[in-house]
Amino acid sequence: MELLFLGTGGAWGLPEHQCPCATCRHLRAVGESRGRTSLWLQAPAPILVDPGPDLRAQIMAHGLPRPAAVLISHEHHDHYLGLDELLCFRRNLPPGQWRPIPTYAHPLAWPAIEQRFGYLLPSLLEKRLALPGQALEGEPFGARLACTPVKTDHGPVPQGSVGYILAERRPEGVFRLGYTSDLTRTLEPLAFAGLDCLICQCHFLNEPSHNRANHLSLQNALPLLRAWQPERVFFVHLSCQDTIPGDEPANAMLKKYPPAAPLCDPGGQPYPIPRDQASWQAIVEQVLAGHGLGMPATVAQDGLKVKLC
Ligand SMILES: [Zn+2]
Ligand SMILES: [Zn+2]
Repeated sequence: MELLFLGTGGAWGLPEHQCPCATCRHLRAVGESRGRTSLWLQAPAPILVDPGPDLRAQIMAHGLPRPAAVLISHEHHDHYLGLDELLCFRRNLPPGQWRPIPTYAHPLAWPAIEQRFGYLLPSLLEKRLALPGQALEGEPFGARLACTPVKTDHGPVPQGSVGYILAERRPEGVFRLGYTSDLTRTLEPLAFAGLDCLICQCHFLNEPSHNRANHLSLQNALPLLRAWQPERVFFVHLSCQDTIPGDEPANAMLKKYPPAAPLCDPGGQPYPIPRDQASWQAIVEQVLAGHGLGMPATVAQDGLKVKLC
């Protein structure tokens, strides 16, 4: 199984257009950016997870072919608004050669997706249901590769929020990869336990006093990682929503809430708020080590390719 991180940013990407905060100013200065979170899995069939609004640039950057299946985690725009971009694969074939792409989402996510993209069904996309706890049926899933949705809580609006666990059967055993997508918690506490690899949301460093976005902070991911004990973890869906000491008036923006009780180093000092790839990676390593979590942890970057097994 191989993994390509097409995008690793939150709903509006990083830096966010017109955002005056210290994180976005720094990212503009150093020329670093993150597109909306999306994944490409070679398992070995190519599977596209969360086709967001940056999909055209992402598939062109990597020369990607028609995916064998699309997995959608929920009905927020940054996780499905790229579906129309998949038309290029059909438009450039002779008549009669196209096979619709099996596209999976929770039954409560489909009404929003169909309202926007009903014209793509069933000619481009084949609507399929992602039912929590039930292995997906039909190509490309089967004995060799199983995929099971996991119900997640992502606040009151996106009722159809799920993560996915993919299990690839190989001669040496089964390799299990999990993708949380956006969440504050799983309904089944140990839903993602015992994975070989977890792709986990990390929207903020510190849990804000008011988690209006209903996203997972690194701080709140720590007890989950302790319970789930993945062999390896990648973090995605980063934002600029942490408040940064001294960065007024940006801290007063609608999207920023002060931390409830910021993560502190062993000396009792709050960790600095990471702004770029290098500082995120360094602080994630320090925080996990400081909390007795020894699994390798990577803050994913756009374009990162990893051979998992
Ligand atoms: Zn999102
Ligand atoms: Zn969301």
